[in-house]
Amino acid sequence: MSIHDWFKRKKLQKETEYTRERLDIPGDLWVKCYKCGQPIYAKDLAANLKVCPKCNYHFKLTSAERLAQLFTDNSFKEINAGLTSRNFLEFTDTKDYSRRIEESILKSGLNDALVTGLGKLGGLEVAAGIMDFSFMGGSMGSVVGEKFARLVEAAREKKCPVIVFSTSGGARMQESIMSLMQMAKTSAALGRLRENRLPYLSVLADPTTGGVSASFAMLGDVNLAEPGALIGFAGPRVIEQTIRQKLPPGFQRSEFLRDHGMVDIVCERRFLRETLIKLLRFFKD
Ligand SMILES: [Zn+2]
Repeated sequence: MSIHDWFKRKKLQKETEYTRERLDIPGDLWVKCYKCGQPIYAKDLAANLKVCPKCNYHFKLTSAERLAQLFTDNSFKEINAGLTSRNFLEFTDTKDYSRRIEESILKSGLNDALVTGLGKLGGLEVAAGIMDFSFMGGSMGSVVGEKFARLVEAAREKKCPVIVFSTSGGARMQESIMSLMQMAKTSAALGRLRENRLPYLSVLADPTTGGVSASFAMLGDVNLAEPGALIGFAGPRVIEQTIRQKLPPGFQRSEFLRDHGMVDIVCERRFLRETLIKLLRFFKD
């Protein structure tokens, strides 16, 4: 390489660097799909209900996004919004649990991992609960259990059906046995709903695991799931280590669970609202 070529290459390199710098795009304008890796224009993704237009991957929704997609007439009125968790066991892991709660409230703008309220869907009154994974991984502690139970009580009073959207990493470890108790508490509440012959629709979003999947998420009169959602109690690695067998492909995903009778309907997000309305009408008649 001559000295002229060397300078030429150096100049070319600089230009490329410059161009790259100018093409630097702010992170919130484009989103990379977790599944297919394609860049998606954030506005297009939002317009498509946060589903990848290229591979149909369903992104996680916050409770606010879910509510906006569901109650398009703004009829949702939140109840028991003020309930917050306390560190009654004075539990500290790498951080004090009280501090963890405070930080989660600030970060998510929510008071706990479940938002509950009453609204109208297709003209029919419903009691709805939406879990939010952004609040401590959607973990179920005493507040999630209490809000769930109160939601069911409200539905019994109004004589309306209950719809709950689950997404959870499981029980909230920081509340120990009190978290585990919520599995029995929420199941008992649903038992009372059943006595009143009121329907309960459960929608499972990615991921629904641990204590939530082992209690109210799987107790729906109809269990619906979004495509490709991870649904299970323990993770696949733990199971593989325990049973010392290789797990089949697609294990613990919505479609696998439907094929094995654990989920009734795998429903794409764009059809979810109308499917729920259809089911509500079916149960009403
Ligand atoms: Zn994709």
